[in-house]
Amino acid sequence: MADKKIIIAIDGFSSSGKSSMAKQLAKTIGYAYIDSGAMYRAVTLYAMRKGISTPEFLDEERLVAELPNIEIGFKVDEHTGRSRTMLNGEDVEDIIRTIEVSNQVSPVSAVAEVRRDLVRKQQAFGLGKGIVMDGRDIGTTVFPTAEMKVFVDASPEVRAKRRHIELAEKGQDVSYAEVYKNVCERDRIDSTRKESPLRKADDAYVLNNDEMSIEEQNEWLIELYNKIVSLQK
Ligand code: C5P
Repeated sequence: MADKKIIIAIDGFSSSGKSSMAKQLAKTIGYAYIDSGAMYRAVTLYAMRKGISTPEFLDEERLVAELPNIEIGFKVDEHTGRSRTMLNGEDVEDIIRTIEVSNQVSPVSAVAEVRRDLVRKQQAFGLGKGIVMDGRDIGTTVFPTAEMKVFVDASPEVRAKRRHIELAEKGQDVSYAEVYKNVCERDRIDSTRKESPLRKADDAYVLNNDEMSIEEQNEWLIELYNKIVSLQK
């Protein structure tokens, strides 16, 4: 009999490598992968383009009024097989990863109505189970009954270093100091906001990957998945 499909929630701090490991796990076990951070980033990009969000200011009232006009989806690139984030039909996968969007995403994500709207959409993705979703509140708010919950942690220095290398590889000229500041500031806002702050679910397994290779992390996750699925039968 085929393994019972479960929901896998992977939460953690900014740039902790959640997305890469969630994507790899989903691929290995044949599950769908949803990057919930990409959804918050897409809303932020929309708000930036409309002048609703600037580095100095966020017009929450206008943002909430615009929510019905924001459609977010994912499309698989037929050449690479990778998922691309779509905003009102436009492929925004690359632009939502820029430091400008990173610098404005946490205040946008702290708006209660934005969270309610996106959480509802995220829950709809999980209806059929067989999904890996990563974010900040997946194991606590989006899927509090997820069968497998992981909380990823690493020091801010290690996370900023990894992110800095990643951005440089994409040709983005940003200093390590700016990336470090962004990582710390997002951690602060994400952990202290009123609406579903970033925190470890009580029943989440902690993965500290400061000193782990990518292969070791992937192995750790697969082992945990196999253990949890075997207990489901
Ligand atoms: O995961 P990523 O770093 O791309 O997420 C970008 C931002 O989106 C986070 O810093 C956080 O402010 C917000 N976010 C959130 N809840 C999630 C996922 C992301 O608030 N579930």
